[in-house]
Amino acid sequence: MLAARLHGIRDIRLDSLPDPKEDRPPAGHVRVRIRAVGLCGSDLHYYREGRIADAIIREPTVLGHEAAGEVAAVGDGVTRLKPGDAVALEPGIPCMKCEYCQGGRQNLCSHIFFMGGPGCDGALRELLDWPEQLVEKLPGGVDFDEGAMLEPLGVALHALGLSGFRAGESVAVLGVGSIGMCVIELARASGASKMVAVEPLSLRRQKAVDLGCCRALDPARKNWREEARKTLDGGADLVVECSGNPDAIASIGTVARCGGRAVIIGIPAEDAVSFNPHIWRRSELAVYNCRRSNRTLPRCIALIRTRCVNLKKLISHRIPIKEVKEAFRLADERAEDITKMIITL
Ligand SMILES: [Zn+2]
Ligand SMILES: [Zn+2]
Repeated sequence: MLAARLHGIRDIRLDSLPDPKEDRPPAGHVRVRIRAVGLCGSDLHYYREGRIADAIIREPTVLGHEAAGEVAAVGDGVTRLKPGDAVALEPGIPCMKCEYCQGGRQNLCSHIFFMGGPGCDGALRELLDWPEQLVEKLPGGVDFDEGAMLEPLGVALHALGLSGFRAGESVAVLGVGSIGMCVIELARASGASKMVAVEPLSLRRQKAVDLGCCRALDPARKNWREEARKTLDGGADLVVECSGNPDAIASIGTVARCGGRAVIIGIPAEDAVSFNPHIWRRSELAVYNCRRSNRTLPRCIALIRTRCVNLKKLISHRIPIKEVKEAFRLADERAEDITKMIITL
């Protein structure tokens, strides 16, 4: 089978890997013929830097963790799914034994097996065996592209949940990549009163406005923080940081209103980021950190089934896996033309 593997920094190759030996997956597992994989900021971190913090890619690794496809075969004991079902995948396999798993915070499991990172091949390949309980059936009328988008939507859902977001609150979204777009789409559907986005790329600023932000500011403008505050009548109730940019993180305290909250989702390329602690302290800014998502896939499916969110309009590019080298090069160099890229198989 074909698989897109990262061999080193900016070295992604379309490799031919052996097909699974058995014609059925192990007991309790589903074999999925992958049809769509979203390209994510974290895939680009591995591509550009070869690592995310201390998670270092040391051997050729199949990237991709935002995946949807079709069930090709099922193992013994699988009852919920059958061949031909269209499905989306929860990308992390937690141990279910540690205190975090037992306490319902499976995304914090230190033994988690997360697809598309060091030691765990991801979804940019034709066939993938995955535990049945981490595979969900897509509702009728939802295509594979939307199925792949449920993973970033899940991160947005987890982040808004952590932050205690309530209908009627105002939101500032820093960084309008795929997570930022999902946050805007979800916050709008959840009753955000006013939303402002901050994003350097003009196409993405336009997208933020299309999705419901009343303003999208360019951080190249010197006074963007003051303008964001003014537009949100004194600052955001909730700031959602989705860029990982150190300047954006340092600006959270200025964009939030006094007594406001922030949730950080963006992954910085740096190992240290500085901010003015006095601004955070004086406003008693509550800062949450979000790591991936925590069993949000069933709720994401409910959101898409009822069409509370529209994930289709977030996608700007669809590129077949045969052109994966070009896809990564484009995502790396020409981000200004791209809102979300889906690799198709
Ligand atoms: Zn992702
Ligand atoms: Zn665990």
